[in-house]
Amino acid sequence: MPAGNTALETWQWGWQKGQTAFKWKIGVFPLEQELSWLEQLVNALPKDSQLRLDANGGLTVAEAEQWLKYSDALGKVEFMEQPLSPRQFQEMQELDATFHTPLALDESVGTLRQLETCYQQGWQGIFVVKCAIAGSPRYLQQLCQQYPLDLVFSSVMETSVARQAAFRLAMKVSSHRALGFGVNHWFSE
Ligand SMILES: [Mg+2]
Repeated sequence: MPAGNTALETWQWGWQKGQTAFKWKIGVFPLEQELSWLEQLVNALPKDSQLRLDANGGLTVAEAEQWLKYSDALGKVEFMEQPLSPRQFQEMQELDATFHTPLALDESVGTLRQLETCYQQGWQGIFVVKCAIAGSPRYLQQLCQQYPLDLVFSSVMETSVARQAAFRLAMKVSSHRALGFGVNHWFSE
C-alpha cells in the first residue's frame, strides 16, 4: 500500500482480491500524523488480516521506539520492516529485544551472505528474502536446514515466471508467513 492516508482506502481493493497481508510504507509523513493513521488503519482492517509496516531504514531510534510502542499497544502489526539503516544493526537488535512487535531485516540482507552474517551476529527476528536477487536457491535451502530462520518472501518486480519459481522455493523451505507478493501496485516495494 502507498504511504500516507490513501492506505485507508486502498487496502480494500487488495482485500477484495483475496490479499490478507498488507504492507504499509511509513516514515514518509510527520510521525504524529502517521501514528493517527495507523490507529485508523488498525481499526478498519479485518480481523484475519495482517499489517506489516515498512520503514525502509528511514526512522531514527526515537521514532522507531514510538512506532513500536504504538504497535505493541494496538496488537495488530505482524512485524515492522527495517526501522533503521543497515549501519544501525546493534540498535535494531536492541529494539527487537525491547518491544513485542517483531522486526524484520530487509535492506540489511540484500544477499544471502549478508543474511547469514546477521544471523551469526545474533539476529533473532525475521528476514525478508527477495528471491530474485538474493542468491542461489540451493544456498537458501542450505541456510534453512542449518538455522531456524524466520523468513518472509518478497518479490522485486519479477516476471510471472520468476514469481512462480520464488513461490515454489518458499513452499520448499516452508515459511509460515504470508508471501509478500501483493496485488500489482497496491503492494509497493
Ligand atoms: Mg522493505
